[in-house]
Amino acid sequence: MTTTTTTQTLVHHETALALLGVTRTHGTGDASVTALRDVTLELPTGSWTAIMGPSGSGKSTLLQIAAGLDHVDSGRVVLGGTDITDATDHERTLLRRNRIGFVFQAFNLIASLTAEQNVALPLELAGRHPSRQMIRDALSRVGLGDRVGHRPRELSGGQQQRVAIARAMITAPEVLFADEPTGALDSTAARVVLAMMREMTDAGQTILMVTHDPAAAAAADSTVFLRDGQLVDALTGADAATIANRLVSLETGR
Ligand code: ADP
Ligand code: MG
Repeated sequence: MTTTTTTQTLVHHETALALLGVTRTHGTGDASVTALRDVTLELPTGSWTAIMGPSGSGKSTLLQIAAGLDHVDSGRVVLGGTDITDATDHERTLLRRNRIGFVFQAFNLIASLTAEQNVALPLELAGRHPSRQMIRDALSRVGLGDRVGHRPRELSGGQQQRVAIARAMITAPEVLFADEPTGALDSTAARVVLAMMREMTDAGQTILMVTHDPAAAAAADSTVFLRDGQLVDALTGADAATIANRLVSLETGR
């Protein structure tokens, strides 16, 4: 069995997440679509990586697989030294609760709960009982220390996304997965959320983010580009204009 050996050889100690030769096909027969084709991607601990690509290029599939929400047809997925490729459903549930965090475009807060209760939820689900102070500290860190009792509808979009970030971070996840985290925000609120994500990576957090916004991608350390399920390019430290140009050329096939 060579797979394990290969994994151990390729994944470095400082790698928070690795996809190694991942292929994923949705559907069967004539209707089948290969959403990812031999994708290899390593995220160093403390790095922030953006994923861009035309619609249908495989971004969501990549994020789902990296987060252990979907399985691969071939290749390996390694989270912080644990090979999760063949994890059972139960193991995946534990993974989601304890080792990874999510932030979505639509915030996904529970409307009937206060900011404080929303943030406490992942810990409650994991059977832990956070102190009030711990929850308030988490909200203070995203600048919402004075909004703990507010419900989502009483908060702006940017504030709701900051609650979602506090909720994602409360379990100190190894990797934060963000799917269009600024997609529903105006540019000012987006900048605040991106600044918060930078603070997290400065503190050693690892982030993988799907975005359509070149400005958001420019806030990350590097951007990888998908086309037809393949990683076709990567830019490190590029500005928004450079990233936008690369994306346009991918979309127009030039
Ligand atoms: P993106 O997020 O970049 O738009 P996706 O990962 O959602 O791309 O999809 C990649 C390809 O896989 C697309 O052609 C899409 O139609 C197909 N696909 C995604 N999910 C499924 C599914 N559950 N069943 C069938 N095809 C799917
Ligand atoms: Mg998608």
